[in-house]
Amino acid sequence: MYKIPYGKQEITNEDISEVIKTLQSDFLTQGPKILEFENRFAEYVDAKYAVAVCNGTAALHMAVLALGLQPGQKIITTPITFVASANCALYAGAEVAFVDIDAEDYNIDVDKLEALLKGHPKNTFAGIVPVAFAGCPVRLEKISALAKEHGLWIVEDACHAPGGYFKDSKGKQIKCGSTIYSDLSCFSFHPVKHIAAGEGGMITTSNLELYNKLKLLRTHGITKEASLLKENHGGWYYEMQELGYNYRISDINAALALSQLNRADKGITRRQEIAKKYRAAFADLPISYQKEQNDYFNAYHLYVIETDRRKELYDFLITQGIYSQIHYIPVHMQPYYKGLGFKKGDFPVAERYYERCISLPMYASISDAELDHVISSVKNFFNVN
Ligand SMILES: *Cc1c(COP(=O)(O)O)cnc(C)c1O
Repeated sequence: MYKIPYGKQEITNEDISEVIKTLQSDFLTQGPKILEFENRFAEYVDAKYAVAVCNGTAALHMAVLALGLQPGQKIITTPITFVASANCALYAGAEVAFVDIDAEDYNIDVDKLEALLKGHPKNTFAGIVPVAFAGCPVRLEKISALAKEHGLWIVEDACHAPGGYFKDSKGKQIKCGSTIYSDLSCFSFHPVKHIAAGEGGMITTSNLELYNKLKLLRTHGITKEASLLKENHGGWYYEMQELGYNYRISDINAALALSQLNRADKGITRRQEIAKKYRAAFADLPISYQKEQNDYFNAYHLYVIETDRRKELYDFLITQGIYSQIHYIPVHMQPYYKGLGFKKGDFPVAERYYERCISLPMYASISDAELDHVISSVKNFFNVN
């Protein structure tokens, strides 16, 4: 019988041989695979610089630290995301404000964001962490104009969206992670995401100063680079200039991710194909979808549908060997966040979405037979055949 998850990595023989080569090399960590991965990834998303780290959560934490987030300050994000998008502020001793989602594209509601900013004195918020939910690019051009007006930085949480892009008002193609309309962008290489490293993450930027700061923060705040040293006692000499962390990725993980990056575009093509098949097959069903627009290209980390019979559908699919998932329980409804003062009712669009959403299988290596099985199971559930 079928056992089909909502997402899954694909490991090829080539991936395996790349990892073995690294295992046989001189460097298991702090070696050449990391820089090679960074350079190739920066190129892939049209960014100038990239800093690879041990996971997407560390990427977000380092991003807000590099931008100088301080205790007492506040960031803004959306309640429909993985908890890490909000937690990064708490790690830095700062606070989180949420802005409800847009009912159609499920990303942060830009009008509500604008209203929140207008309704508060300047300096209430330090930055915005918009999330390219399910792979749908964030309208960063508008958010960037608001951020400039109110003196805020932007960290794009692009963990769902490597390979996605939108077209700006000049018709220019803006890739998720290019940081053309943001300060920093963060990615995850958890196996359920587009590129699997085992564990891994990336921060991209076009700002040299932030790039240097991120490199320091990744490795204890320590540097050996002669041009950056305050003193120099000899070849052994290093300085700890910031309070940093060990957020490094290993060369083993980087080798796997780099090998996967080689076929990232192929993966997106397959994801687009799956989305198209779902859309065509479900055209007559009583369900709704994340809004699609001509001027953006969805990287489809997830394929979400909304139905009033969500729980029934979830349970039915399990009897068919299909393990769908719910993305996400609104962050503000998590017990920890309730402890910070948030409550049910605070973000009604997100909460209604949560009652109805379900993520169907979406990953490059799903077979046509498996996909057909998912499609016929969903249609059976709604009794349309
Ligand atoms: C996966 C994910 C993260 C965290 O990445 P990890 O590599 O699991 O730490 C952060 N934000 C979003 C939106 C994610 O999907």
